[in-house]
Formats: sequence, structure tokens, C-alpha cells
Amino acid sequence: MKYFPLAINLQSQPVLVVGGGQIACKKIDSLLQANAKITVIAPALCEKLQGYVDKGELVWHEALFTDDSRTNQQLKQFILIVVATSCQSTNKIITKQAHSAGVLVNSAYKHDAGNVILPAIISRGDVVVTVSSNGQSPVITRYLKQQLEVFIPQNIDSLSRWAQSWRNTIKDKFSNSVDRQQFWGFLLSGKIKDWVLSGKFEQADSQIKQYLNKSDPITGQVFLVGSGPGDPDLLTIKALKLIQQAEVVLYDRLVSDAIMDLVPDYCERIYVGKKRSNHALPQDNINQLLVDLAKQGKRVLRLKGGDPFIFGRGGEELELLAENNISFQVVPGITAASGCSSYAGIPLTHRDYSQSVHFIAGHLKDESNTLNWPELVNPNQTLVFYMGLSQLGYITAQLISSGLAPTTPVAIIEKGTTEHQRTVISTLKDIAALAVSKNLKAPTLIIVGKVVLLQEKLAWYS
Ligand code: SAH
Repeated sequence: MKYFPLAINLQSQPVLVVGGGQIACKKIDSLLQANAKITVIAPALCEKLQGYVDKGELVWHEALFTDDSRTNQQLKQFILIVVATSCQSTNKIITKQAHSAGVLVNSAYKHDAGNVILPAIISRGDVVVTVSSNGQSPVITRYLKQQLEVFIPQNIDSLSRWAQSWRNTIKDKFSNSVDRQQFWGFLLSGKIKDWVLSGKFEQADSQIKQYLNKSDPITGQVFLVGSGPGDPDLLTIKALKLIQQAEVVLYDRLVSDAIMDLVPDYCERIYVGKKRSNHALPQDNINQLLVDLAKQGKRVLRLKGGDPFIFGRGGEELELLAENNISFQVVPGITAASGCSSYAGIPLTHRDYSQSVHFIAGHLKDESNTLNWPELVNPNQTLVFYMGLSQLGYITAQLISSGLAPTTPVAIIEKGTTEHQRTVISTLKDIAALAVSKNLKAPTLIIVGKVVLLQEKLAWYS
């Protein structure tokens, strides 16, 4: 590490900036956040800097910086000198003088000429995150900064102040620092954090008091998270955060490898399967396992394909948690119908073709099909069958015999939103045979209705 990150208190400290253009202005913007006492030497200022001068936020010496214009003594009064002129020889002179005066110097044009770099800053009150690349790659630091901006809550500062207010109490409760850290980890990963971030301080305070009154305050939590149809970019930000914080994850077949790659190495992984009639672990055992792991005080991630509340048995798993008073959160995911239709270029509704959509389970729990077929027969609606491939012949025959035209367009999307996505288009009458000849394999989503015709024009993903 060439540049060691060190935070410096610049409050009212004299800082000299040489240069009055855009680059100097950027540096000054961040120095002003630190309330530094800034002096600028430049023959001219950009408009924004002139505005700062007019408001008295900095002092301007209207001059060129030359070899003999400043003595060592004059430079020594500054704690930091920022070199930001557009003239390389001037930059060199100032940097040299700053070095010989023993003052920290940052060079905006040639970072290794100085001995200080100013990192990119994400500032949220007392919480400040800095990103730097040893001055090598401003593009990467900017990129990382943008990524982090999304993840760091705007009001993280209020969480920091709230945590501070409980610091001593928690220190008294847990004399051992490992236990203390575990308790903080538990607090910051659960609903308390969300309450504080949304300004519900009383609720958070009363909850923490309840925890602290217990002899064993750390209780586990279960996060039932939808992972979407496969493409990891379709995860919600909340899902990604929870994936990154999990201690143990229970996942099934529909969670893509690309998403499992995001799970931290230290996190325990439990495959609980789920294939038609071939559950790696029976549903009751999964439900019980969630309860048992949470009772051990773990942060349990129950990761499900698509949305947990759409043909995902999410409700069944939560019921047992609720009965056992285990705290849980549900994070919706993009369901296969939304993901596959978008990636196939088939809008599920369209003012000219379809005014409603039905999501239908193509196979029912007890393998008998008790669907109300006549209700599904309406040329101006879209039918989406999940888990329908193995009964496709039966489904299409039922729809035709109930009155839907045999020429009604049908699409099957296999492994939608993944790099292996395949879309097969046909009609109600011919799709079952085509699915066999194309050797389609689960997971597949079946879309029935006139909207399918738009695929030819709107398909964009390949
Ligand atoms: N909870 C999930 C659905 C689980 S049922 C969701 O909201 O998407 C499983 C069925 O979802 C599969 O049989 C298939 O019909 C559909 N499915 C899930 N992911 C899919 C994908 N990537 N491509 C096509 N179909 C998918």
C-alpha cells in the first residue's frame, strides 16, 4: 500500500490551493466539506470559485505562483497544499517548494509528485467512506464510489448516532468483546436497524430494551428472499445485502449458480432441493430446519427462485416460524412471469391484445388438476403457466376443448433470463409436440395469448 489512508481534522486549518479552474474547484468542494480555511492563489477563478469568494468561504490571492513569490516561511503556515494549475512547470515548482517547506502536498496533475492523495468521498454526516486506488485509476475509484453510494443508506449517520447512544449500556451488559460484537451484528442485521433508518427511534429503543432484559438476548432471524428467475442483476438491492450478510443459506434448485456465487465463503450452504415430486428435503423438514437454525441464533437466509410468495411455498415456511415466535422478513423477487416475459420480449398485457393476466400452477399439489378451465378461456387475456411442461399436452387439450382457438399463440421460455434462455413459439394445437421435438427442459414458463405475437418484434435478449 503506497498511500496509507489517514483521516485528518482540517476544521479551520489553513489549506492552500494553487489554481482556480475546474480541477481546483473539485478539490475545494471536498475541502470545504471538512471546513478547512482555504486560500487560493490563481490569476483567475472559475465561476463557482468566484461564488465562494463572494460568500466569504475562501480567500483569493489574485496572482501567479512563481518561483520566488512565496517563501518557505509563508508556505509552512499551511497544513496542506493542493497543486492544481494547468501549467506543469508551475505545478513542479510549487510541489518542490512544498516539499522543502515540509508541508503535505497533493498534486492534482501528477499524483506521485506529491505525498498526499485526496480519495473519493462518500459523506453521510459522521460516517465517511473513502475510496482510492493509490492515485492510479480515478475511473475505478469513481465507479466504486457510485456502486457504494447505492448501498450506503442516506441516513446511516442517524444509525451511527443511535448506536453511539447505546454503546455504554451494551458495554455494561456484555463485558466480553466477542459477545458484544455478536450482539451488535445481530442488532444491525435485523429490524432494529430498519426502524432507526426510517426514524422510528422509540420502537427501536423499546425493542433493544427487551433484548437486553433477556438472559440470552441474541435470537436468530430468517430472511425469506426471492432471488428472481436467474440473472443475478435482477436481484433487489435488499436481497443482495442479505445474501452478503447471511450465516447460513437454504436454497433450492431454481437459485442460479451465478446468484450462489454471491454468497460469502464463510456462509454455510444447505441445499434443500425441489424438483417436481423429488424434493431433496421434504417441505416439513425444511420448515423445521428454519426454526431450528433460527433458535441457534443464526441469521438464516432462505433463498428462493423468483418471488417467494408466488408458487414458492413461502407462506408455508413462515407459518411455522410465526408459531415459534421467530422473527422474519420477506423480500420479494422478480417472479418468473415478469422476468421471462421481459427477457423474451412478450409484454404480459397490451391495450390491443390483453387486459388481464392469470398466473397458473400447471401442476397442483396432489397432482390432480382442478382448474376452472372455462374461466381461463378469454381471447383478451394472457395465461401464464408455471410448472406446466410435463402436463403441456393436457393443458393445451383442456384449453382447446373449453373453447380457446387452437391457433392461439403460445410461447415457452426455457431457463429465462439466464445465458441459456431459449424461446419456442407455436400455437395451442402444436406447442406440445414442438416442446418434445425441441427437447425443452425445466424450468420453463408457458405464456398463452395474443401478446406472444409481439415477441417477433420485441425480442431483445440473446
Ligand atoms: N417462486 C417462483 C416460482 C416457483 S415454481 C417464481 O416466482 O418465479 C417453479 C416454476 O417457475 C418453474 O417450473 C417454471 O415454470 C418457473 N420458472 C422459474 N424460473 C424460471 C426461469 N428462469 N425460466 C423459466 N421458468 C422459470
